[in-house]
Amino acid sequence: MSSTTPTTIPPLLSGGVMLTYRCTNECKHCLYRCSPRQDKHFLSESMIDAALSALASEPSLHGIHLAGGEATLHWKGLLHAIRSARRLGIVVDYLETNASWCNDDRSTRESFLRLREAGLDGVLISASLFHNEFIPLAKTKRAVRAARDVFGPRGVVVWTPEVLDRMERELDENRVHSLDESTRILRIDSARAELWRFHGYLTPNGRAVEQLTEGLIRRPAESYRNEPCRRTLEDTTHFHIDPFGNLFTGQCPGISVANIGNLHPTIDADRFPVYCQLAEGGPVWLWRGLAPDFDPDPRGYVGKCHLCLDIRKHLRRTGRYEELRPDEYYRD
Ligand code: SF4
Ligand code: SF4
Repeated sequence: MSSTTPTTIPPLLSGGVMLTYRCTNECKHCLYRCSPRQDKHFLSESMIDAALSALASEPSLHGIHLAGGEATLHWKGLLHAIRSARRLGIVVDYLETNASWCNDDRSTRESFLRLREAGLDGVLISASLFHNEFIPLAKTKRAVRAARDVFGPRGVVVWTPEVLDRMERELDENRVHSLDESTRILRIDSARAELWRFHGYLTPNGRAVEQLTEGLIRRPAESYRNEPCRRTLEDTTHFHIDPFGNLFTGQCPGISVANIGNLHPTIDADRFPVYCQLAEGGPVWLWRGLAPDFDPDPRGYVGKCHLCLDIRKHLRRTGRYEELRPDEYYRD
């Protein structure tokens, strides 16, 4: 049973504003399940202003990053977001990009210059075997070179440099590689979970638990009992606001009790039963409390978030739980 003591979302510290769920890629590790199949829905300029105004009122906010999907699919909105943040005094730590648009040196440099002129101080460029299924390394390297030129070395983060270094040494930079091919060339044994060790930041949630569970140890659903999630759900050090204004805390996309209209609502079990069950007792409480008819996967789960996602998909089909949103996240 959930606690009857109402709570709320603590002050926001640092996080991302997602301009869209749409992406050029459909990376197998994507926590937010972005893809080219998602609608062309972008956070509108008025919503960007509303989201940033709400964030500007947060007393403990250190900074934000701009992300997608792939935020550069909507340059106008992206430039607006950078200018709007600057006007409101919000620090934009970086723009996250997958470099899909970096087709030649000149246009890449010019685009980074436009971003800098709008007020951006830095970028994060993604480099992984998952991205390399869609983006040849030459584009990633071009993005890094041009960004260092425009923002200076301290204004560029490669995520991650170790992976980029290994790919540079062993992969053909002029073409993409399927994951099967790149892991074979790099002698990464997915069956021994080496793919997860190679990309040490992976989160067992979102698309990763749908497509990358090979080699991971699975445990029965019941074994995740007594693993409450309050700490994670109240963690605001890496929150996200999605293109519909929904707030996600922790590493918990698809669960939203707050939005840019009210980032700190009163949270009680009547209004937000899913959140409260998870906060109090974790996914097994959610299962026992709200989804007794849920039939867990007999193969087990690689982590509690894997189980949680499976139960939430089941609950979402009932249409009863408004806090399980948006559609984009739960769509297959
Ligand atoms: S991980 Fe990034 S590049 Fe890959 S699908 Fe997700 S948003 Fe797109
Ligand atoms: S089990 Fe669910 S609520 Fe708990 S941390 Fe994982 S995704 Fe978040």
